[in-house]
Amino acid sequence: MQGSFIGRKTLLAISVSLLALTGPASSDSAKPSFGTWGVDLTSRDQSVKPGNSFFDYANGAYLARTEIPADQASTGAGRDVYNLTQDQLRTLIEASAANPSNATAAQIGGLYKSFMDEAGVEALDAKPLTAALAAVQAAKTKAEFATLMAKTHVGFGSSLFALQVDADAKSPLSTLYIGQDGLGMPDRDYYLTAQFKPKKEAYEAFIVRTFKLINYAAPEANAKAVLDLETRVAEASWAAADRRDIDHIYNPMTVAALQAYAPAIDWRNYLDTIGAKGLQKVVLAEKTAVQKIAQLFADTPLETLKAWEAFRLTVGASPFLSKRFVDSEFEFSGKALSGTPANRPRWKRGVSLVDGSIGEAVGREYVSRYFPPTSKAKMDALVANLKTAMAARIQTLSWMSAQTKAQAQLKLAKMKVMVGYPIKWRDYSTLKIDAKDLYGNVERAGAFEFAYQLGKVGKPVDQEEWGMTPQTVNAYNGGLENKIVFPAGILQAPFFNPDADPAVNYGAIGAVIGHEITHGFDDQGRKIDATGTLRDWWTAEDAKRFVAEADKLAAQFDSYEGVPGMHINGKLTLGENIADLGGLLVTIDAYHTSLGGKPAPVIDGLTGDQRLLLAYAQAWRGKARDDALRVQMASDPHSPRKFRVIGPTRNVDTWYSAFDVKPADKYFLKPEDRVHVW
Ligand SMILES: [Zn+2]
Repeated sequence: MQGSFIGRKTLLAISVSLLALTGPASSDSAKPSFGTWGVDLTSRDQSVKPGNSFFDYANGAYLARTEIPADQASTGAGRDVYNLTQDQLRTLIEASAANPSNATAAQIGGLYKSFMDEAGVEALDAKPLTAALAAVQAAKTKAEFATLMAKTHVGFGSSLFALQVDADAKSPLSTLYIGQDGLGMPDRDYYLTAQFKPKKEAYEAFIVRTFKLINYAAPEANAKAVLDLETRVAEASWAAADRRDIDHIYNPMTVAALQAYAPAIDWRNYLDTIGAKGLQKVVLAEKTAVQKIAQLFADTPLETLKAWEAFRLTVGASPFLSKRFVDSEFEFSGKALSGTPANRPRWKRGVSLVDGSIGEAVGREYVSRYFPPTSKAKMDALVANLKTAMAARIQTLSWMSAQTKAQAQLKLAKMKVMVGYPIKWRDYSTLKIDAKDLYGNVERAGAFEFAYQLGKVGKPVDQEEWGMTPQTVNAYNGGLENKIVFPAGILQAPFFNPDADPAVNYGAIGAVIGHEITHGFDDQGRKIDATGTLRDWWTAEDAKRFVAEADKLAAQFDSYEGVPGMHINGKLTLGENIADLGGLLVTIDAYHTSLGGKPAPVIDGLTGDQRLLLAYAQAWRGKARDDALRVQMASDPHSPRKFRVIGPTRNVDTWYSAFDVKPADKYFLKPEDRVHVW
């Protein structure tokens, strides 16, 4: 939410998001054990019938014995691997700080030291903010304020508009997307629906508190004005589900046309200010929202805009200021919003800062220490098996014509696969890091990243660049590049374990691979062709059949209550749910093929299919605080983990046979009601 430049998270990169709830991590939990062959049999609750909740059957005992650490919004398999990775990063970052043997180590160590210098940060208190707050107060006109807002893309502060550099959906070049922004809470629903009224009240108290921290005039009245402004921005904003629709968020426009469409902002000046001098064409993402928000800008008193900016600037900088700022910000974003009782220890926040600012510098060192080359070779082979299985599935689809199948096969064949780490690394050498200047470091790192991203506009997309760092515990499908990427971070147990039973690797990382492949063919991915271009390659009949199947899956998910009183949004989560289901189906096929016609061995009384499905369910074991689930369900396209297990499995025939699921069971579906899509 901080800043409005989205940087490395690309618009149409769809991740598997094992850590859907970004938030605090803990290393206090021991490294989890997943038995001798990759599944934790002590995690099961065998008093639960698999057909009544496969999630609880596979994970019930684990859930009963596991507490969410005080500094986390959630815990589970993905979080544990994340914590392990953070410990590894800490080791190498502290080594760099202790012994800066080269320029990169000096940057890594220097940035970390500047964060860990708590006494220095405390002594400065609010001082680092002084100049930026004075600049806000100095704005005498709306035009001056718009210029100031443009400058926030390069430093601290917020704009009412988001800027993002990404592949142009209809050309091989990178382009600048302009979209909606300006909200300090997770989604428009937090402003507009009754269920989030308590959060909105906590937010107003937070705004008042923030104004008091910086001695801002009339804190209560200004807080009310700021909240009113953001509420009107929320009304103008697109819903999360609509923001996924690539047809709707691709609106190329000349700057002159944008000026006519949203005249309240001097766009030429805005773009010149961010460093995009001479840029003639942009793409509007949430088109009508941009127009409405520009009009809101015109209709809002300058004093309110200045108060809003002072608030947002302070909040964005708070994690890098003295304790009273850190605590106040956490009180809202940690406690009130996600229900997390305690902030992370300082070292974890310091590691996150280094990881988030110069991630590939750390990542290069990370993979040399922690990622064995044998893992890469094994993964390459596994991905190839999954692609083969997907090709076979496409060929047997009864609902799809030969013509559309040929296009789908072409797209699959051309899908690029990247495993572990990029073949070329980012160069951060011109980023100035000063071990005594935390605020300046964060500001310079932000400006450095922005300039880097902006430098791509109008140039061909670099296919070798990664949208995630190698240490990320996640994976993604870069939709507009037709590629799938598996960072080293996710290639650890329980997701990937070279020593595990093959059924386990197919159930865990195999399903992740299948998930990313299927994204190329989900409700949005299917609109993009083999070259990564937005182009309709479907016959009208096939498109109709796809939509009918997908609608059935959306309706299933609409019926799930993810947290008491709140249902999953089937439309918002549709792409992820199609990917989960397709991923599971295709990995089961790939596993069966890998057996080469022989029956799978039985281990600890479990068949191969049982082990695969248990491994799948245990990759999702974990729990989250209810408030954190609400944030996720309102804003994140990934379903809560429980339904990432229950939702796909009940559509999979193999699950019925493997666990003897019967019509009387809660999640039984009649064969004709099972959705396959792919
Ligand atoms: Zn995904």
